[in-house]
Amino acid sequence: MPRVLFHLDMDAFYASVEQRDHPEWRGLPVIVGASPERRGVVCAASYEARKFGVRSAMPSRTAARLCPQGVFVFPRMEVYREESRHIMALLDAHDEEELVIEQVSVDEAYLDLSARFAHLAKGMDPDAALAAALPVARAMKETIRRERGLAATIGIGGNKLIAKIASDAGKPDGLLLIREAEKAAFLRPLPVGVLHGVGKATGEVLQESGLVTVGDLQDYLTQARGDLRALVGSYAATLAAFAFGEDDRPLDRETLMRSIGSETTFDRDSDDRPLLRRTLREQAEEVAEKLASEGMAARTVQVKIRYGDFTTLTRQMSLPEPVADAAEIYRLGCLLLAKHRLVNRPLRLLGLGVSGLVPPSPQRLFPFMERERGAKPESGSR
Ligand SMILES: [Mg+2]
Repeated sequence: MPRVLFHLDMDAFYASVEQRDHPEWRGLPVIVGASPERRGVVCAASYEARKFGVRSAMPSRTAARLCPQGVFVFPRMEVYREESRHIMALLDAHDEEELVIEQVSVDEAYLDLSARFAHLAKGMDPDAALAAALPVARAMKETIRRERGLAATIGIGGNKLIAKIASDAGKPDGLLLIREAEKAAFLRPLPVGVLHGVGKATGEVLQESGLVTVGDLQDYLTQARGDLRALVGSYAATLAAFAFGEDDRPLDRETLMRSIGSETTFDRDSDDRPLLRRTLREQAEEVAEKLASEGMAARTVQVKIRYGDFTTLTRQMSLPEPVADAAEIYRLGCLLLAKHRLVNRPLRLLGLGVSGLVPPSPQRLFPFMERERGAKPESGSR
């Protein structure tokens, strides 16, 4: 069955948020990351800064040398995470039934609209479904610009590989649809590194064999009937498929769960505190385990209770720092029950859950922040 996938990626996300919030920085080379006087790297560079060759993950000192007039801004991770939640909520709330979302990072998501549009792929033409989804992508970009003042690029394709490469190629503020019929040709001039799974090491192995572009790879497979196994081992079959834009990876169902929870219906309605605490503790452990398996943390913890007369209540709290730890989730669950005096009569059901899933703390992503912890946020021109 033909598929309709979007890859949505915010443009220069952190830098764009800073430029939106500081109009005086618009049009200037904004570099979000460590200050150049310190050891540390660039997290994000505005398009103006990229013209100077500034790239993320580059040492800030190098960035300052390439772009002495750069506006160095210390990252405001909390603001970016909050922004990410707003954007993902907009996508979630988009007026599309049967839309599935896989959030891949703070500013990036795959959206699967196959259930809605695939029936349009009449006869043998899967491209009719892709074309039908184009106005949806346009509307999503427009909503994000209007509601959040930020630019997103969307790539549209028949699978994740093509949608992702399309959004990279469409930047900035772009919308690029790659038809099934043209995907192999679209990939030809691109370097092999664009293919999912081709990292630095594999890229070097391929290049040493003269396979620099995806086109080289295609020709090697068809004309030379080359065997990639000698070069890349068990990855050969997948790589050969990717080289022609074939990819049947599903969206990651695990991360589709916008919330994770656990519920228990008691054999007999109960307000026995030790039993309720024990139940909550088990639920917290289950929730934490699921979070860990997804490598996510949660911004919101909620409890759900149902009384004997089937009255059902939920209470939740948002957290300044995302949680992933069972003990912490348990503690917050107890706090919610106590704060709202929910156990004022026997419960039929007790549930504990988390939502607002986000990648874990920025310290892991940006180790330099650990070193600079306690330092004052700094910003300003140099
Ligand atoms: Mg981005």
